[in-house]
Amino acid sequence: MQNEGPATAGLRQPTQPNSVLPEVLGSHALNPSQTLSLTNHFLAGINNFLIPTFTGTTEGAPHMKSATRVLVTGAGGFIGHHLVKRLKADGYWVRGIDIKEPEFEPSAADEFELLDLRLWNNALQATSHMTQVYNLAADMGGIGYITAKLADIARNNILINAHMLEAARLNGIQRFLFSSSACVYAGYKQNDANVTPLKEEDAHPADPEEGYGWEKLFTEKLCRYYLHDFGFETRVVRFHNVYGPLGTYEGGKEKAPAAISRKVALADDKGYIDVWGDGEQTRSFMYISDCVEGLLRLMASDHREPLNLGTEELVSVNELVDLVCAIAGKRLTKRHDLSRPQGVRGRNSDNSRLRNVLRWEPKTRLLEGLDVTYHWIEKELQKSGRLAEALAYASA
Ligand code: NAD
Repeated sequence: MQNEGPATAGLRQPTQPNSVLPEVLGSHALNPSQTLSLTNHFLAGINNFLIPTFTGTTEGAPHMKSATRVLVTGAGGFIGHHLVKRLKADGYWVRGIDIKEPEFEPSAADEFELLDLRLWNNALQATSHMTQVYNLAADMGGIGYITAKLADIARNNILINAHMLEAARLNGIQRFLFSSSACVYAGYKQNDANVTPLKEEDAHPADPEEGYGWEKLFTEKLCRYYLHDFGFETRVVRFHNVYGPLGTYEGGKEKAPAAISRKVALADDKGYIDVWGDGEQTRSFMYISDCVEGLLRLMASDHREPLNLGTEELVSVNELVDLVCAIAGKRLTKRHDLSRPQGVRGRNSDNSRLRNVLRWEPKTRLLEGLDVTYHWIEKELQKSGRLAEALAYASA
């Protein structure tokens, strides 16, 4: 994948009935007007990309929630920022920690502090007088970034996670949620674009993504050891490609849906789009509101083993490009750059355990979520003058 993820020659059969692609694409060739009308239909119900009302999986009445002091690390980042908003909307008292402020709007947190959590004293300070911790802080990015910065990523993240776990334990935190990743899954299970969806046990025997994946897998173990040695309550979520508005869309740390949306927005109709790899690599993508909902549900559950949180809607990068082009109403020719990293050949989530444990699973269809995301990125590019610049360049 590029900072972008996976597109394909033939469409794969969806592994689960919720795949949007056969309905929307029908055949390999997209019909933009058909897709747009479907998009509009989906969008009728999505005026607000923020999260729908939570239906009762976190314990307690509102006054109990306000007494629950929740720490979100990585609160200046994409998922952390959305999570803080949701926790505040649900009535919790929230502290956000990051090394940077949120990029696109102020944090909703009651308290927001800039602290580098690689440092022990900062981890202690961050976790003081709190009840729960969502530990989302991490050095991470798209495939270009995580395949280039193995030592930095592994070192930075192990420092954050080891310090956060110990500081949280010493400060009497009741529950600690660690954000792991589908990058922990064994590479030898992901060599085929038509991949068998990954069950939680497929992370072993270990063969994770170099650097980033090894660190996540080790921290999963560390959470287990804290439970074993100290009875410290840990929850471990394995995210599969989260996307949505208010996420990074340029600079090298962006992921496939954001990178593709930016490129499509800046491209001239009937122009070109550069795609990393041959575009046949496949992934599944989860919309941000589902991600946040799943996080709250997992935290409230008694499940202490790693749990997938993603969708089972498998698409290739080429298909992802086609969907975004259809949303934008543009016809672009793909230029595949085989010299760029693309990650594993295929990766999909098996949500059997997720459904069983949380009695729920992500519901937002890819086309719905992409539509909101694309238009948000387009608007940001408009605001910054980048869109006008690109148009002027194209017509010069
Ligand atoms: P993000 O990069 O937007 O957010 C991570 C935040 O951590 C950033 O704001 C960053 O500044 C902060 N951070 C980095 N180093 C820090 C430090 N030393 N001290 C304090 N804060 C620090 O990423 P995200 O997409 O919001 O991801 C959140 C978590 O979910 C991460 O742990 C990531 O590894 C995991 N994850 C995300 C995805 C995804 O698709 N977004 C997939 C798998 C796993």
